[in-house]
Amino acid sequence: MSAYIRPDLDAIPAYIAGRSLPGVVKLASNETTFPPLPSVAKAIAEAAESVNRYPDITASELRAAIAEFHGVEIENVAAGCGSVALCQEIVQITCGQPTDEVLFAWRSFEAYPIVTRVAGAHAVQVPLDSEFAHDLDALAAAITPNTRVVFVCNPNNPTGTAHGRAEITRFLDTVPENVLIVLDEAYYEYLRFPADEHPNGVELGRNRPNVLVLRTFSKAYGLAGLRVGYAIGDPAVITALMKVRIPFSLNRLAQTAAIASLQARHELLERTNAVVAERDRMRAALEAVGYRVADSHANFLWLPLGDRSAEYGEASADAGVLIRPYGTDGVRITAGDPHENDLFLRFATDRATVGR
Ligand code: PMP
Repeated sequence: MSAYIRPDLDAIPAYIAGRSLPGVVKLASNETTFPPLPSVAKAIAEAAESVNRYPDITASELRAAIAEFHGVEIENVAAGCGSVALCQEIVQITCGQPTDEVLFAWRSFEAYPIVTRVAGAHAVQVPLDSEFAHDLDALAAAITPNTRVVFVCNPNNPTGTAHGRAEITRFLDTVPENVLIVLDEAYYEYLRFPADEHPNGVELGRNRPNVLVLRTFSKAYGLAGLRVGYAIGDPAVITALMKVRIPFSLNRLAQTAAIASLQARHELLERTNAVVAERDRMRAALEAVGYRVADSHANFLWLPLGDRSAEYGEASADAGVLIRPYGTDGVRITAGDPHENDLFLRFATDRATVGR
């Protein structure tokens, strides 16, 4: 590493994205396989005619649409270049000392440790429980006077596990009010809890200024390639987030597409039913041939394959399906369309009879 680059950066891993290979099915990045709706594609094409101008720096039209959708005020909404940018901004607005701690479960979204360490803060990881879910009691118990933020990923990436309303409420009741609790709900639209157990962070955070909810247009809304995420929370937190963001990072096409997607949300969210049905079909098929599969509430499945994970991921790629191995913990498979899923299931079934 060059002499002028800060030495600790060497030890921080880079974010690794799911691979894409031409002609190979990609079930590696939790995207949606559906193409954009015609109404959304048309809005993007129209916005492209004005890209000689900077976008609205405050994304006010988009934030107003999000606020209306959630029944909050525009002052409660920040928008960012993907919710991953908001994760980074959250750490930037809360941490400034090397002793500052950012707490999260592990495994969880791999950006949490990266943005924490890049900000010079200390990442504290609390192991998932034996069912690959957040251990909320252990998480609450790990809060120290140095804890600035806790990320709670619900449903959790990469295991898909989720906690219901009562459990999240109990957690929020337990934690000190001077710690920012981020409910990262990137996969919220795939949750199918009974109505009285549905863990809607926006509702749960309504009278709690220390709760910030993250959502994204990348998954159920199908805009991963345009990078739009948002946060809902206390106006003071929102103002701080908007201060540290890179100016104009939420581009004109992205803002327009997100507004058009919210307008078409009934059609887009309808699609999640098909994804959930495929996820459950895959899970049943995998369990039927002997795999252990975590209880997923998202658009992907987690197979805890331990030290066979990397080799399994390679073999799946060789069989024409890219999935996502995670070290020696497991592999994550995104639910794609039925044909793509069948391709993976064929591979997985072969492997179940050969190597298990
Ligand atoms: N949070 C979680 C839990 C995620 O899995 C992801 C995407 N993998 C993000 C945030 C970031 O999504 P985006 O930046 O595309 O909005």
